[in-house]
Amino acid sequence: MTSSQNNPVYIVTGAGSGIGRATAQRLHTDGRRVVLADTDHASVKTLAAELNDMRDGSAYPVEHDVTLADSWAALCEQVSSFGTIHGLVNNAGITRDKSMLSMTEAQFDAVVDVHLRGAWLGCKSVIPTMRAGGGGAIVNISSSNRHGAFGQTNYSAAKAGIVGLTKAVAAEQAKYGIRCNAVAPGAINTPMIGDVPDRVRQQWMESIALGRLGEPAEIASAIAFLLSDAASYITAALLDVNGGEQHL
Ligand code: NAD
Repeated sequence: MTSSQNNPVYIVTGAGSGIGRATAQRLHTDGRRVVLADTDHASVKTLAAELNDMRDGSAYPVEHDVTLADSWAALCEQVSSFGTIHGLVNNAGITRDKSMLSMTEAQFDAVVDVHLRGAWLGCKSVIPTMRAGGGGAIVNISSSNRHGAFGQTNYSAAKAGIVGLTKAVAAEQAKYGIRCNAVAPGAINTPMIGDVPDRVRQQWMESIALGRLGEPAEIASAIAFLLSDAASYITAALLDVNGGEQHL
């Protein structure tokens, strides 16, 4: 066993903001060592500095684009000196909302690339290392809007696809000790929903049993649970964390 195999690490994509940032912070609080991957290098460098101030050598920032196979290969190579990959959170995301007849092919492709292709590439890239290390856990981020949301033919299709991807990966990798689950957040208070008009937010409130937006930390705790040994008999599952959305 190499020294890095004694050093399990957890990769979080989109760790520079919102749910990814909260997830990295939560895993760090739980004593994990985290790889912070994001196209926004400055944001993950700043977060890594904060986490390393609390515990030296506990966070590793990487400039990373989930849509590119080469970027995943480089990430896995870089991480090998930091530790062995035991966990992956495919969280990076973007939106390009338009009603279908106004949506360009570029807007469709961009969203499907980041969410669905990005999660597929992420699983494909880390699974060999996880297998070599004796197993691991993957959490993919879907959404309530997988059911179909106005203006989101791209996003809804990608987020529904992530559920199928998750179950297929779980079926293929179970015998190698790798669990794969998905978390489907509802409306969460992050920059991603910053442009949503007040009248739409009001409609959301009326359909959420708990009557409020979720906080990123509330998604992070579900992700941390699914990554942990406390979830050792859970794979191929989809966990809705949405305050009780009533229109689903
Ligand atoms: P956010 O905009 O706050 O953060 C997204 C992060 O992803 C950013 O740091 C961004 O730089 C990064 N990113 C974008 N493209 C990338 C790429 N190609 N490679 C690497 N990093 C990239 O968004 P958020 O609200 O925290 O969303 C996180 C995840 O949760 C997304 O998958 C999103 O679809 C999902 N989600 C969010 C909500 C919500 O209400 N906020 C609801 C359901 C699902």
